[in-house]
Amino acid sequence: MTKFNRDTAQWQELDREHHIHPFTDPAALGKKGTRVITRGEGSYIWDSEGNKILDGMAGLWCVNVGYGRKELIDAAHEQMKELPYYNSFFQTSHQPQIELSRLLAEVTPEGFNHFFFAGSGSEANDTNVRLVRHYWDVKGQTDKMTFISRKNAYHGSTLAATSLGGMGYMHNMGGKNASLLPGFEHIGQPFWYLEGDDMTPEEFGLERARELEEKILELGADTVAAFIAEPIQGAGGVIVPPDTYWPEIQRICKKYDVLLIADEVICGFGRTGNWFGSETMGIKPDLMTMAKGMSSGYLPIAAVGMTDEVFEVLNGGGDINHGYTYSGHPVASAVAIANIHYIKGHNLVEKVREETGPYLHAGLQDLADNHPLVGETRGRGLMAGIQLVKDKATRTTFSGDEDAGTICRNYCFQNNLIMRAVDQSMIISPPLTISKSEIDELLEKGKLCLDATARDLGLM
Ligand code: PMP
Repeated sequence: MTKFNRDTAQWQELDREHHIHPFTDPAALGKKGTRVITRGEGSYIWDSEGNKILDGMAGLWCVNVGYGRKELIDAAHEQMKELPYYNSFFQTSHQPQIELSRLLAEVTPEGFNHFFFAGSGSEANDTNVRLVRHYWDVKGQTDKMTFISRKNAYHGSTLAATSLGGMGYMHNMGGKNASLLPGFEHIGQPFWYLEGDDMTPEEFGLERARELEEKILELGADTVAAFIAEPIQGAGGVIVPPDTYWPEIQRICKKYDVLLIADEVICGFGRTGNWFGSETMGIKPDLMTMAKGMSSGYLPIAAVGMTDEVFEVLNGGGDINHGYTYSGHPVASAVAIANIHYIKGHNLVEKVREETGPYLHAGLQDLADNHPLVGETRGRGLMAGIQLVKDKATRTTFSGDEDAGTICRNYCFQNNLIMRAVDQSMIISPPLTISKSEIDELLEKGKLCLDATARDLGLM
């Protein structure tokens, strides 16, 4: 066993000296020092100072079965002993990869029977771009190259995934649009609370969906390959589209022969109370991106799933010149299999849908009704957003140096609760194994932090 016997200050110093963090200002973190997480069990993590922290984010939306599950650990150990690595390039396969493909066909919606493996959500979305362009090429519609997604969407951090995403600050890293490839277009997001003005949610949902039609007509349907979106936007702020949105998007994709890709990286594997967010939102996609909850983050693995119709085309199209050394890694596949069995065996999807999800949302609704800082709460299953506002009646958010999200996030940190701030929303996405009493703790601590934030901002 590697011995990690240093104290917190030493770890912070070494981290500052040698480790570059994702999505972080190194100089700012260097001044503060990182929090060092040492262990996890169930819904909790511990830091190097011995603090027990309730993980309201399941890591990064991924530890669906909670920490420390023996079934997943044993699966990794056994597979490591048997076959720690082999590839699937040389007309070879291994049992965990094949069994995982079979299991995925079982848990994904009807018609999804074919899976291409990757190591992360970003790689899987790059795979989407490459496979979908190949698909249209094989069909002889070689101009269908452009992808449409939404502003404020997150689809990953590789170049293609950054381009699929709609985060301006990511596109502009390295200079204006330096990280935005040609062939990627973005339309408005269906975020009624902040962008719906005086429209009803239903009117606004239709309007935002019709931006897709306008964009397709502007570009020419014969140039548009696919539209990609999360069923419920996660990192954008847990944005649930109005009911009118998805049926209209589906109609438009069908009418103009544009493939629909559901990015299920967050929504998949039970998070929204169904196996996939597409089921919760009533969507029938052609392809799905999966990662995170597929292995509960115990090991990195991801996949692109596709319908029989899409696969039939690729099946007649010759070589697929795409793949990763770790596509369907045997140990990660074995862990993903154990993870899916764990979700099934503990009825986690049903539990989220019928018990813990409604319980969490009832508690959050109480905040929306009674807390001066909370404009609305939203989400499905164990995926929720709390919108912080300056004025509930007019849906006005804070501006300038009143950074409500960061203030609240800092109070959460102090109170040993992980809630993430996305702009002026607080985000909750705990392990799917969270109990009702742990949800009570989450809500109590959350309210404490909202109260403190409201006092700082003069609302209480
Ligand atoms: N798609 C979505 C919807 C995501 O939330 C994420 C990660 N947060 C990704 C893709 C990228 O996944 P990864 O970080 O594993 O590359």
